[in-house]
Parts: sequence; structure tokens; C-alpha cells
Amino acid sequence: MGAAIITVGDELLGGDRLDTNFTLLARRLGERGIQVALHTTVADDEVSIARALKSTQTVAEVVIVTGGLGPTADDVTRQGIARALGRGLEFNEAVGAHLSDRFSNLEAGHLELILKQAYAIEGAEIIMPNRGTAPGLILVDGDQTIYVLPGVPAELEEMLETTVLAHIANRTGPLTPLARRVLRTAGVPEAAVQMRIADLEDTYNAVRLGLLAHPGLVDVVVTAPESAARDFQKVVDEITARLIDALYGEGDATLAEAVGRLLAQRGKSVAVAESCTGGLLGELITDVAGSSSYFVGGVIAYANDAKARVLGVDADTLKEEGAVSEETARQMARGVRLCLKADIGVAITGVTGPEGGTQRAPVGTVHIRVLDESGETGVLIEQPGSRRQIRERAAHAALNQLRLRLLDT
Ligand code: AMP
Ligand code: MG
Repeated sequence: MGAAIITVGDELLGGDRLDTNFTLLARRLGERGIQVALHTTVADDEVSIARALKSTQTVAEVVIVTGGLGPTADDVTRQGIARALGRGLEFNEAVGAHLSDRFSNLEAGHLELILKQAYAIEGAEIIMPNRGTAPGLILVDGDQTIYVLPGVPAELEEMLETTVLAHIANRTGPLTPLARRVLRTAGVPEAAVQMRIADLEDTYNAVRLGLLAHPGLVDVVVTAPESAARDFQKVVDEITARLIDALYGEGDATLAEAVGRLLAQRGKSVAVAESCTGGLLGELITDVAGSSSYFVGGVIAYANDAKARVLGVDADTLKEEGAVSEETARQMARGVRLCLKADIGVAITGVTGPEGGTQRAPVGTVHIRVLDESGETGVLIEQPGSRRQIRERAAHAALNQLRLRLLDT
């Protein structure tokens, strides 16, 4: 049983928007044991859409098409699908009434535009729009069931959860879902994670391992058919044991959440001094609801002068060792801890480039120090990359050093 996903939109092909609808659909189907056999992205063009649908015919029994259902002239997905199926479009009275009712106070021209979305493909079952204005369509054509869904991610997700997944399950009967766990690690490079666990796939044939790297972080995705549940559990246990120092959470858990939990458990507060990350560390920490109970605040000390005047970094240190040095990071952490009266001070100083690298501190050099009343820890990163990558890697590494310090005390 295979599925095909067709995402429609010029902005996806132009690289202006990430195809997050695909990710959502593939994940939700995968959780239910339905493999995606084909994914195509096509332009907002009737012929291309029709061709894409036809190409799924021998590959997939379930087809999900998303995007291009809006009321404007550039949205032609209905026409493309109708063309491929050799069907016409017809005004659906129920959708028309629903939309007219909801938008009765709009001016006439605007309502007329919205009502264009009441044109459905002949023979379609309708999924009424609750959030947006575009109805979803369910079409049966030979062996295939085709779901045509809006592109707006929130509208897509709602129809998927309330209607589509149940509809697919009804047609396919009970499926054995894949067992899937995502183990999230920090501080160990992707290649090193790979080396620590690679042999497990040979020992346990039915279990699949995938690595997903983010700057400074690596997720290990473990999947197996339900029939291999015991091997699956053994592999998860083994990976946990081998990566125990790096493992901070599972599934959608973020590193900042894990750190926040540790801070709350230990009753410790933290303050941050950031140079090259420009506030990113503070953003990650405060993304977590409830962070006010442990996060005091931060100082973005970008210029040397700010490091000296606000955080009390020694002028001689800045001159002799440089702004990007372990000693500067140490003094920044000490300074922010004192100035904001926190239990723990965290500091980041580095070179994000593309200019500004020196012999002593080339682009990608980042010093991180974490300091509390009983001692300190830290790390030196020396890894090139884009500005964004270097900043994200630095902020994640700082969170991880904080995590390790908390686990140690
Ligand atoms: P549409 O249904 O094509 O009019 O798209 C409505 C909105 O959803 C636009 O802002 C699109 O950029 C966005 N969108 C459409 N398809 C996708 C997709 N595959 N992934 C993420 N966003 C999308
Ligand atoms: Mg579009």
C-alpha cells in the first residue's frame, strides 16, 4: 500500500517556501504504516498538475494533493485534477451556502471571489472548511483515492486530523503501524554518533536507523515494523546506553526544555552573556513556557567596550588574548552572573564571519563558558559554516554545556 504526495505551488519550486506540508503528511502517514512511494512538487499550472497526478497511477492507491485551492486566478489545482480525471467542475450548493453564510457581511466582489472555491470536481465528496475558505475534495478514481486539500498548513492539518486519516484507514483496513522513536542528542558530531551505533543495523536486520543533523544536534530516528517490536526495544535501549551523556530528550522535546527542567528541578537561576549569537541563546531559553522561573536575563555585549563596561571584562585580557578567547568568555560569564545576580552565568564569544577571522580565531571559532559558585565548564568549537549555522551551533552548544554542568552538580 503506497501513497503519493503532490505539493503544488510556484513558491515551493522557487525555493521561497519550505515544503512543510510534505513533511507533515509523510510523518502522519508513516505513523500509520503507510509508506510514501512518491513525492512531486509542481508549479501552479493546470497541465503540470494533471501530469503529476497521472504519474502516480501505477505507484499509489492513496494520493494527497495540497496547495493551489485559493480563489485567485493563479490557483488552478481543481482544474488540473479535473483535467487528469476527465471530469468537469460544478458549483456545490452546500459549500456555496456555507461560505455565503459565513461571509455575508463582505462586500459583493470579495464574496464572489470566495465563492469560486465552491466549485468542486464532479463526483467529489466534500470536506467542509472550518478554518479557511477552501473545501477539501475526496475523489475515487479506479483503485485510487485522491484527496485534494488546501495549502495553508493549519487548514491542511485540520482536515488531515479530523477527516482524511480516518477516511484512509476506512478504505485500507487496519494497518500495522511502524514503531518509531526519535532520540535527540547534543554535543556529539554526526559522524561520531554514526560510529557509535552503526553495528546495530547489522545485528538487528528489521530495525532501521536514520540520523538527522541540526547545528550542534543530532537526532537518531529508530523505526521497525510492529512484528519486530522486541528488537526495536533492544536497539532503543542499546542506543540510550551508548549515547547516554549526549541524550537530552525524545520526540519533539527541545534542548532548551531539557535544560529548563533541570534548572527548575535544582532550583537554580541562569543569566547569559552573548556576543556572536546576538541574543539567540536568550531566545531559545525563553521559547520555553515557564522559563521566567529560572531565567534572569541576558546581556548582548557585541562590542569590546560593552564587554568591558557592562560585564567587567579586563581591558588587558581583551587586548592580549582577544575578544574571542577562553579568558574573555570566562570573564563574561562571571560578569553577567554577578551583574544579574544569577546562580549560573553562561557566556558565548566567537567569530561568525564571513569576515573578521584571524589566525588565532578563524571564522567558526566559538568559546563557551558556564560558571557557577562551585566551578565552571566550557567548550571550544572550531568549525566553519554559514553565519546562521555558526550561531545556531554556538547557542545549542551553550545550552548543552549548561545541561552538562547541571547534571554534574
Ligand atoms: P495555496 O493553497 O496554494 O493558495 O497556499 C496558501 C498558503 O499556504 C500560501 O502561503 C502557501 O505558501 C502555503 N503553502 C502552500 N503549499 C505549501 C506547502 N507544501 N508547504 C508549506 N506551505 C505551503
Ligand atoms: Mg499556491
